[in-house]
Amino acid sequence: MANWPALAPLIERAGRPLVVEALRAWAEARRGEPDVADEAACARWCTARLSGLVTPSQRRVFNLTGTVLHTNLGRALLAEEAIEAAVAAMRAPTTLEYDLSGGARGERDDHISPWLRRLTGAEAATAVNNNAAAVLLVLNALAVGREVIVSRGELIEIGGAFRIPDIMARAGCRLVEVGTTNRTHLKDYAAAIGPDTAAIMKVHPSNYAIEGFTKSVAAAELVALAREKGLPLIEDLGSGTLVDLETWGLPHEPTAREAIAAGIDVVTFSGDKLLGGPQAGLVVGRKDLIERIARNPMKRALRLDKVRLAALEATLRLYADPGRLAERLPTIRSLARPAADIRAQAERLLPGLRKALRSAAEAGIEPVRGQIGSGALPVDLLASFALAIRGPGRKGGGLDGLADAFRRLPIPVIGRIADNTLYFDLRTLDDEAAFVAQLDQLDVVAG
Ligand SMILES: *Cc1c(COP(=O)(O)O)cnc(C)c1O
Repeated sequence: MANWPALAPLIERAGRPLVVEALRAWAEARRGEPDVADEAACARWCTARLSGLVTPSQRRVFNLTGTVLHTNLGRALLAEEAIEAAVAAMRAPTTLEYDLSGGARGERDDHISPWLRRLTGAEAATAVNNNAAAVLLVLNALAVGREVIVSRGELIEIGGAFRIPDIMARAGCRLVEVGTTNRTHLKDYAAAIGPDTAAIMKVHPSNYAIEGFTKSVAAAELVALAREKGLPLIEDLGSGTLVDLETWGLPHEPTAREAIAAGIDVVTFSGDKLLGGPQAGLVVGRKDLIERIARNPMKRALRLDKVRLAALEATLRLYADPGRLAERLPTIRSLARPAADIRAQAERLLPGLRKALRSAAEAGIEPVRGQIGSGALPVDLLASFALAIRGPGRKGGGLDGLADAFRRLPIPVIGRIADNTLYFDLRTLDDEAAFVAQLDQLDVVAG
């Protein structure tokens, strides 16, 4: 059976062992039935059975959720420069840990630390797998077996089970909470310092905001206290950024340079949030502390591979020319996109969408507000426009059925349902041609 011509294309795609396995299952399922020898039927059956194995599990999608940095959809899209650098590093041996001038062993951090120093003003820098790893490593390196002081207003949980108290425990540190949920004063920190204190930590409460009767202690005040007591001051910036987002009319997010200038000793932030690079955790700060952090054995377990280091280096290089970031870095390009531009795109797409819906539902254009995502600025602030679909006939399975039909397209389209409407926020639609090209395959029941 494996020699049947009808099976040749499947063997080419999936390889002989998987097809032989599928054929055994076919023979088993059809034992004694007349069509067991039907070549075409067998080929169709085997193709369907193997489809899950021959199509990749991680697939490209359209993120039209309105959240630019969507963690579940892979956060930042890389710049072409970063993609090229990553591909080149995958194809050939590289100078990952090799110093060409001396022909001796080099340091993998040397590819990115000069850039991070230049872009943040810090004395030294290192990088690990992600920001969660950076926080874990910093705490373990500087405070294992000892106490770290954190404000109760900053004991955050972010998605994916990252909780400051848990990370603290796993890093082998004892958390000392100070202040209250809404108010923490400098004297609270001062009173908590004792012989076992190893560090003071600030956490940017990136995914929530406390409003009303609130008080937190500014970095500058904490710096004076930490200096006086000879304690390192650590800050987890979360998203962090290397440029002032106000350049593009967005609200201010703390930059790593500001944190360093304020006197924070060690600052950690993510590579694939606002920075717009590959997943990574960046650590910048005082030279003596960064050296201790980089020497910690955990660093070896959390380090970056050559592919991501190449992409990170290329991304950081783009920051040397901030005036062109909005052109070259997809994250900034999406965030900076003017609403009028998005509206014009919506108007171009609406007729084709209406045609594809074949009266199964009504579509229009509506103003919406999107989010940066990944913990940066946890409010809906990005004025945008969406294709808004509502009122599908009951035959179509309602809005959920419609959303499902869009997810079953060759490149699944992911939107957001709110107020009985399926919204496709177009801020992040870069590849308009690919979106349009598949619309006629939308499988809806005409109303
Ligand atoms: C996102 C975030 C983290 C975790 O960063 P990853 O790069 O996702 O590991 C840690 N702390 C804060 C404040 C964050 O916003």
